Amino acid sequence: MQTYYWKLQNNAADDEIIIKAAEFIRQGEVVAFPTETVYGLGADGLNSEAVAKIFAAKGRPNDNPLILHIAAKESISRLTSGLTENAKVLMDRFWPGPLTLIVEKSAIVPDAVSAGLPTVAVRFPSNVFAQRLIKACGCPIAAPSANISGRPSPTNAADVLEDMQGKVAAVLDGGSCGIGLESTVVDTTEPVPVILRPGGITYEMLTEVLGAVEIDPALQGDKNFRPKAPGMKYRHYAPKAPMYLLEGKSAELLPSMAVKAAAEGLKVGVLCSGAMKVLLPAIPGMQLACWGDSKEELAAELFYLLRDFDRSRPDVILAEGIDESGIGLAVMNRMRKAAGYQLVTLTDTGLRIKNGTQLPSFMVK
Ligand code: AMP
Ligand code: MG
Repeated sequence: MQTYYWKLQNNAADDEIIIKAAEFIRQGEVVAFPTETVYGLGADGLNSEAVAKIFAAKGRPNDNPLILHIAAKESISRLTSGLTENAKVLMDRFWPGPLTLIVEKSAIVPDAVSAGLPTVAVRFPSNVFAQRLIKACGCPIAAPSANISGRPSPTNAADVLEDMQGKVAAVLDGGSCGIGLESTVVDTTEPVPVILRPGGITYEMLTEVLGAVEIDPALQGDKNFRPKAPGMKYRHYAPKAPMYLLEGKSAELLPSMAVKAAAEGLKVGVLCSGAMKVLLPAIPGMQLACWGDSKEELAAELFYLLRDFDRSRPDVILAEGIDESGIGLAVMNRMRKAAGYQLVTLTDTGLRIKNGTQLPSFMVK
């Protein structure tokens, strides 16, 4: 299929583009569009056939429900059979913004969207292009991230085209996404709300307005727990090379590990902070992906940097972990998944990998 590419310029010409994109969506086609988190792959959220096209374009498993995007708080009322007080508080405080609420669904939400669950995920994004598109469509837009399932989410239009060219009707280019990680998902149907996926609205921000908030225990990668957000059980964000995430003190050993891996003839990829970069010796062939020094910068660039490793093709990736306060929780959640839970820690008895994988030779003394 032909994929139209339309660049939004923040001027009058955008009106025509938004109208054409909304027409595609109303006709049951799929259009990729920017949000403040990552790019979304949108279709009419009340049309099962259109929604099926999203799953086909992404190769997404059918048991993984979609988020419905709206452009006014009131629009949630016909999608839900009732909101809890906590849901109302969160809508008032954080919408529009990178927060998705799980609520009891109403009868008009197709099973294809909710994957047969009695609940539905709803978000009101703050990105103005997204809002204009949703308003022009006049329906909620079902939209997952605009990547092939399993790949890092796209945070710019070029990365969307890499995965979706020829598979969707159009791609709207609204520049780079500000936050860079998918929305926080909170289940508001439980007496104590539960974070099912951490994101730009942080645990600290949520507890400040709600008091108690839980974090789904499955997010720590413990196999004894099954994630409540079906999508969180899949390997995700994964670069093609094996990745090791160096948590806590083990990160101090990153420079020496990189040297040893290179000495074994491996092409080494390193994902680290500016502070770590200055500690790295010159290593021939090393693929260095650095973020500045704030967690927000890492959040904004993480998926782009992971995709870049798929272009530079290292044999192994060593990534520096960060602390989990603020957006650090969301960053570490995505990095742990990208690493397939190969989480390296330094214990009294030396290095070990939390999921029981054997240490690679360049980590053994
Ligand atoms: P994505 O659309 O790729 O950003 O993923 C949306 C995330 O929200 C996935 O992890 C889904 O499994 C999760 N999700 C969507 N709807 C529900 C729901 N009704 N209950 C729990 N999790 C949901
Ligand atoms: Mg996704």
